[in-house]
Amino acid sequence: MQSDVVMIGAGHNGLTCAAYLLKEGYSVTLLEKRSVPGGGATTEELMPQEAPGFLFNRCAIDHEFIHLGPVVEELELKKYGLDYIFCDPVVFCPHPDGKYFLAHKSIDKTCAEIARYSPRDAQKYAEFIDFWQRLLKGITPVFNAPPKSVLDILGNYDLPKLKDLLSVMGAPNKTLDLIRTLLTSAEDMLNEYFDSEFLKAPLARLASEMGVPPSQKNLAIGAIMMAMRHHPGMARPRGGTGALTQALLNLVKSLGGQVLVDQSVEKILIDDGKAVGVRVAGGREYRATKGVISNIDAKRLFLQMVDSAELDDADEHLRERLERRIVNNNETILKIDCALSEAPKFTHHQHQDDYLIGSVLIADSVKQVELAHSEPGIGRIPDADPSFYAVVPTMLDPSMAPPGQHTLWIEFFAPYQIENTQEGLKGTGWTDDLKNKVADRVIDKLAEYAPNLKQSIIARQVESPAELGERLGAYKGNYYHIDMTLEQMVFFRPLPEIANYKTPIKDLYLTGAGTHPGGSISGMPGRNCARVFLQSQQPMAQAFKDMGKSMRSTVGSLFKKD
Ligand SMILES: Cc1cc2nc3c(=O)[nH]c(=O)nc-3n(C[C@H](O)[C@H](O)[C@H](O)COP(=O)(O)OP(=O)(O)OC[C@H]3O[C@@H](n4cnc5c(N)ncnc54)[C@H](O)[C@@H]3O)c2cc1C
Repeated sequence: MQSDVVMIGAGHNGLTCAAYLLKEGYSVTLLEKRSVPGGGATTEELMPQEAPGFLFNRCAIDHEFIHLGPVVEELELKKYGLDYIFCDPVVFCPHPDGKYFLAHKSIDKTCAEIARYSPRDAQKYAEFIDFWQRLLKGITPVFNAPPKSVLDILGNYDLPKLKDLLSVMGAPNKTLDLIRTLLTSAEDMLNEYFDSEFLKAPLARLASEMGVPPSQKNLAIGAIMMAMRHHPGMARPRGGTGALTQALLNLVKSLGGQVLVDQSVEKILIDDGKAVGVRVAGGREYRATKGVISNIDAKRLFLQMVDSAELDDADEHLRERLERRIVNNNETILKIDCALSEAPKFTHHQHQDDYLIGSVLIADSVKQVELAHSEPGIGRIPDADPSFYAVVPTMLDPSMAPPGQHTLWIEFFAPYQIENTQEGLKGTGWTDDLKNKVADRVIDKLAEYAPNLKQSIIARQVESPAELGERLGAYKGNYYHIDMTLEQMVFFRPLPEIANYKTPIKDLYLTGAGTHPGGSISGMPGRNCARVFLQSQQPMAQAFKDMGKSMRSTVGSLFKKD
């Protein structure tokens, strides 16, 4: 079977990339190892026997990053069935002393909530969010372009974005101070701004979504996880995250793209230093005349699918650099999905159903969050006093469960490899017994806040970190493909020499969470990779197109009223 491009994996980035190529007239075949496309962006009826009609987001649920880029509009995904519902409130975090943090989409309303307990922290919150939002707006153009394509990056800047950037790094001392800020940790920043634990703990919890403890230096940028919930906001596709995948599938198929499931790619076919296709489990080959694009990370691609002699011929150092220089810190997720007869009620915190619209964070203290993210790194399970992220998706979107009933989504950060054991799946230490014991502790903790929880559970499914890794095919279960630490971001992701979606093997490209700007639901790696592919097909024509776009946006912004 032959097409212009073969895509390894049909995650949302692979599908996004394919959609852009199909729109430009290239034929694309996507090969997906699971029977359900979407990777970390699926919605599935997990327990059809015990809980028919309950739909679960197996991974991603809250979408922020995708609203910082043009993918939804450019691909007209609404026309293909995508309907985003924005959350408001966006965060609820009950505190053991009876206080709670309730964040609305509006910063003013959020400040009013905080002011009930601390007028000073409320004022500082507005300053904190304002700073991170200006920085975020100032750097968003970098996310939406290949990191080494200067023209593309410049073309994304208009006057308001330049103003935002200059407002955080205008004068020399301002720039130095910004660098200083970026070198600090989320915890340092939170201590600099705030006094109250009921506020610092949930902000630390969200910053740790980067996959590191709040004390990790160089990752103060984790603060954008809260800033984004105010602007551009946090949304969920109606029907679940899988509805984003479905809209992309509808588009890809309408343009003639082929998505073949149960096709696990095992080998990249290379001829004379050039990628010409792939072989899947079972031996079938798919040929590509213009390129092979990988939606899986560089480490898996090169170390498991490329013949070592061919890799060494292309770059004699790459194998060792992939093996030893790319960082995966052993932290991943134990996922709990429950079908509920009724929604949890936070009775100790003057329950309102509105609390359950956004993310529910269990974060009693910064220290608890610190342990939640430092213990997995050394192979320990932080379940003595669990901190985690939960959602009741059916409160915003009742279509995901039978009438009046609910679902519960919990992500609990846990080690992939448990220390001092070789038991369980893949020798990770994860057995059915262990994952269920850990899940029991997590549920017990949530039930301290929502006492009706346990009696309302109709059925539950627990997926261990090892099982998650197997499902996604992700190295050490890393759903960001590689860690999201500063030294692996932008033109360092995954390594400087392969950071612009191209690789030393001709016609072999990289996309997905393991490339710039990284993990989460954004479609940006897919879109950026498509641009690089298209530029490599018609370098001059594409360069002129990009230059024209850059000039139009610059001129447009000069004459645009703010
Ligand atoms: C529990 C959990 C919760 C999350 N929550 C959020 C959230 O709320 N918001 C958010 O923005 N992000 C969240 N994420 C992260 C997000 O889901 C991922 O970063 C994102 O889905 C990555 O997309 P991708 O397309 O780059 O890669 P993937 O989704 O990993 O897609 C890669 C695809 O390749 C396929 N594949 C792998 N190996 C092969 C092979 N050999 N042959 C063929 N196909 C193969 C996989 O099956 C998969 O379909 C969460 C992740 C997890 C695990």
